Amino acid sequence: MKPQKDTKKTEYRLSLKVKWALGTALGALLIFAGLTFVLFHTFTQDLLEQERQDVNQSLVAINQHLNGEKNKLTKTKINRSIQPEGLLSGSNKSPSKIYGSSVTRGLSAPDMIVRIYGLNGKLLFSTGKQVSKFNASSKKSVKLAAGTKHKVLLGSMPIVSTKTHHKIGYLQVENKLTTYYQDFNRLLIISGLVLILVVIASGLLGYILSYFLLRPIDDIHDTLTAIRDDPTDDRRVPELHRHDELSDLGEMFNEMLDRMQRYIEQQSQFVEDVSHELRTPVAIIQGHMEMLNRWGKDDPKILSESLDASLKETKRMKDLVQEMLDLSRAEQVEINFRDEKTDVGKVVHQVFNNFKMIHPDFTFVLDDDLKETLIVPIYRDHFEQVLIILCDNAVKYSTKRKEIHLSLSRTLNKVEVGVQDFGEGIEQADMNKVFNRFYRVDKARSRKKGGNGLGLSIAKRLVEGYHGDITLESSAGYGSLFRITLPVVDEDVLRLDS
Ligand code: ADP
Repeated sequence: MKPQKDTKKTEYRLSLKVKWALGTALGALLIFAGLTFVLFHTFTQDLLEQERQDVNQSLVAINQHLNGEKNKLTKTKINRSIQPEGLLSGSNKSPSKIYGSSVTRGLSAPDMIVRIYGLNGKLLFSTGKQVSKFNASSKKSVKLAAGTKHKVLLGSMPIVSTKTHHKIGYLQVENKLTTYYQDFNRLLIISGLVLILVVIASGLLGYILSYFLLRPIDDIHDTLTAIRDDPTDDRRVPELHRHDELSDLGEMFNEMLDRMQRYIEQQSQFVEDVSHELRTPVAIIQGHMEMLNRWGKDDPKILSESLDASLKETKRMKDLVQEMLDLSRAEQVEINFRDEKTDVGKVVHQVFNNFKMIHPDFTFVLDDDLKETLIVPIYRDHFEQVLIILCDNAVKYSTKRKEIHLSLSRTLNKVEVGVQDFGEGIEQADMNKVFNRFYRVDKARSRKKGGNGLGLSIAKRLVEGYHGDITLESSAGYGSLFRITLPVVDEDVLRLDS
């Protein structure tokens, strides 16, 4: 046992609480990460769309200022077209001042660069250092393009004269997306931090919750360990006062322990009782054999006496073994004889007639109140066995008045069979004990009468196995009345069966 215990201890073991905490944290991580991803994606897409619209508006606005020209664009034409009236072109003017009109305001944004190319691809105008290359686009487009650090938004379109409908140059607007990336990164950091916080908080919460919820398991575990070490330990799972599955489990566990310990006690008590019961006949046989061995072999009187006594004891042992077998079978009637049915009146009459015949010195009286056939859910031989045990006892423990009364009556849903004698009776203190195994009020006298103290316990177990009851009324010196009650089979069911 020991080495097994040790290997168990060294095994890698993850506590249920930790598993619970990890599970909660993982669940929170997955849910929150999914949610964050969706929100993040929607938000950044909105931002990008905003930037795309800005680029688009800028393209349209600048194009409107340039497409009035008839022929291909030149630097002079461009300067004249896009510089607002009243403002001087000059290197000392900042772009925001130069392009201060409402139409071209987009151009003055610091991360927006505007470039105008001639038809041959020659750069004619630029507001800053452009990352992307010249692209002779045939139609207006705004798309993401590779930049130095990250992607940029590149809008490009051909400038077509509204007068001649000929291409007169190319316009390119590049948005470096600086604000977009700033917002993107800020959002990413915040989401990451919140995600970490949520995971830690949910893990912690999961652990605390599981600590409180699973605390009873520790109690059950401790009780189990105590019982494993000593099966007779009377330790039990403490009352949990929770009214949930765990408290049910605790109660069931306690009941199971009670039953298990009762079985263990009964088992060892039975073995003790049996060996005690067998000791006397074995000792008697041994005594006779030793006597014969020493000096009785040649004495026909001693020989015959010893053989007689030994045979009697052997028969007693045989009866004892048979009774023990009956007792053990009586405990399993519920499983093995579930669908048996018996006509009680018939069996009672049969036993009554048999006893009348076997004991002619006794007066047997049968008081049968039944007006119809009554079927009881019990195996016929078992019912007969119970009656025989009670009638046998009545005969055995009758004294002067050799009279035995049997009665048969019915209440609403029960049948009652009574066996009454007018013999020695039983003291109040012994009345409950007589149904215990091997219990005899007067051991020596009962033994003389061939009793092993098992009859009533077999009868009780059989009757109870069929959901009936056996009771006793007795008065020492006046006699005893044993009453068996058994449920009656529902007549409707019976009619369906037949
Ligand atoms: P036994 O085989 O000894 O009769 P039982 O289990 O049938 O065993 O009975 C147990 C004890 O109960 C008997 O030893 C006897 O002392 C007492 N007893 C049983 N039936 C009667 C009775 N009808 N009258 C008086 N005592 C009885």
